[in-house]
Amino acid sequence: MKNVIIIGSGIGGLVAGNLLAGRGHKVAIFEAHSMPGGYTAGFYRKGYYFESGTLSFEASASVFKAMKDIGVFEKIDFVKQRLRFVSESFDGIPGNTEDKVTWLKI
Ligand SMILES: Cc1cc2nc3c(=O)[nH]c(=O)nc-3n(C[C@H](O)[C@H](O)[C@H](O)COP(=O)(O)OP(=O)(O)OC[C@H]3O[C@@H](n4cnc5c(N)ncnc54)[C@H](O)[C@@H]3O)c2cc1C
Repeated sequence: MKNVIIIGSGIGGLVAGNLLAGRGHKVAIFEAHSMPGGYTAGFYRKGYYFESGTLSFEASASVFKAMKDIGVFEKIDFVKQRLRFVSESFDGIPGNTEDKVTWLKI
């Protein structure tokens, strides 16, 4: 067992810390900000919470694997992202990747 110090509690530090702790290492994570999360964290103003950071994961295969490895995947509700495409020739929400490709070729 090793004593490990991680600087920063962004998603990288938190995942690394969880994986190391799961393997029996003693981990301390130091964070300069007043709350953890790095770019994945939002912020509170006047009683409202603002989602200002990461909203989706492009590399979902590796992110989902990391979440499963640290045992949090089942605890999170994912919502399918809806993107509205707007231009002179189209305006709508594509149903699938094929639609997106077709629309972008117009
Ligand atoms: C507005 C925005 C939207 C984004 N949207 C997406 C998205 O939709 N999909 C996606 O996949 N990615 C997105 N990203 C990128 C993604 O958020 C980052 O790649 C990821 O969060 C980086 O994680 P990290 O742990 O490497 O670093 P960070 O999240 O930057 O965490 C680093 C942490 O270290 C702390 N720190 C720094 N220096 C010190 C120090 N000396 N001592 C102590 N603590 C320190 C910081 O305070 C911070 O908490 C977005 C980023 C931004 C800004």
